[in-house]
Order: sequence, then structure tokens, then C-alpha cells
Amino acid sequence: MGHEEEVGEEYLFKIVLVGDSAVGKSNLLSRFARNEFDTNSKATIGVEFQTQVVEIDGKEVKAQIWDTAGQERFRAVTSAYYRGAVGALIVYDISRRTTFDSVKRWLDELSTHCDTTMGRMLVGNKCDLENIREVSVEEGKSLAEAEGLFFMETSALDATNVQTAFEIVIREIYNNISRKVL
Ligand code: GDP
Ligand code: MG
Repeated sequence: MGHEEEVGEEYLFKIVLVGDSAVGKSNLLSRFARNEFDTNSKATIGVEFQTQVVEIDGKEVKAQIWDTAGQERFRAVTSAYYRGAVGALIVYDISRRTTFDSVKRWLDELSTHCDTTMGRMLVGNKCDLENIREVSVEEGKSLAEAEGLFFMETSALDATNVQTAFEIVIREIYNNISRKVL
């Protein structure tokens, strides 16, 4: 008997984080990958991506999640950032309406650079800031419906829905791929 049956298929999914500066992209990633939150935003500098292993249907799936590393401040996210991405989290900050208004622009970026079948989730981050909320849950939901995106409000600060948001995107990519194979 060879080892063939024991060697599972390997899945590696590139997922990109997009959204305006300071919406919490880097903290969502550090919460997901390391269960850490960083109150000053130095997390933005440096790290290109983090790889996280998730199990789906008994298969090991590697999610390679890319962070803009602050490129978005200069409105110059390079095409290399998007290359090969099969999933995206489009993040806004529920306490800053301008970041919600930018979602359309980020969706345009994604449709320019990526395959339209990519798994996409709209993420309203900082839902812990209920007292200074500027974007209602309903607005987030209806934009997501109109654009055909999953939707979730999260808090990287108190860890609300962070794991779930990433896992839904990863599962969607996995399902897309399984459908193609069949
Ligand atoms: P990025 O520029 O999109 O990567 O945003 P960062 O992750 O650097 O976060 C920007 C700022 O928002 C930092 O001061 C974080 O501490 C803060 N922040 C990030 N996520 C949350 C959150 O869920 N709740 C609150 N209250 N603050 C957050
Ligand atoms: Mg950042």
C-alpha cells in the first residue's frame, strides 16, 4: 500500500482585505490569526499576509490572508495585491460613514482585478462602538444584498464574529471550487 490515500488534497486560498484606512483590517487579521488586538495601529506596517489553517469537511484548507499594509492611504493598492485572490473581505467602520461610502469603490477595484466568482463578504467592523454608530445594520445588509455579498458586523476589539466572517468566506471559496470540479 502506498501513501496516496493518506495524502489529502491541498487547498491554498488567497484572500484579500480591502477598505479605507483605519477601518480595522489589520486588527481583524491579527484577531483571526493570533487572537490579538493592537490599540495603536502599528500592525499596519510590515506584514504582507498571514496563513491560517482551517478544516472544512475534514480537509485542511490554508487561507493566505493579505493585508494592505497601509498602501490604501496612498490610494495605490497594487495589482500584485489582488493577483490570484479568490476571496475578499470588504471592510468599513460602522462609526464612520465615509468608509461605508467607499465600499463601492473597493468593489470596483475587486471587479477590475479579480474573478467575479470570488467569495466576497461585506464587513461592518467596530460594532462595539454602538454609541457612535453612523451606519445602521440595515444599510449594511441592503448594500450586501444589492451587490450579492455576504454580510456581517464584527468587532476586532471584542472578537465578535471575526472567526465566523473569515470562515464563511473560506467555506464559500471551497464550495465554489467544489462546484467547478464536479
Ligand atoms: P487598518 O488601517 O484598516 O488596518 O486599521 P487598524 O487595524 O490599524 O485599526 C485602526 C484603528 O481602529 C486602531 O486604532 C484600532 O485599535 C482601531 N480598531 C480596529 N478594530 C476595532 C474594533 O473592532 N473596535 C474598535 N473600537 N476599534 C477598533
Ligand atoms: Mg492596516
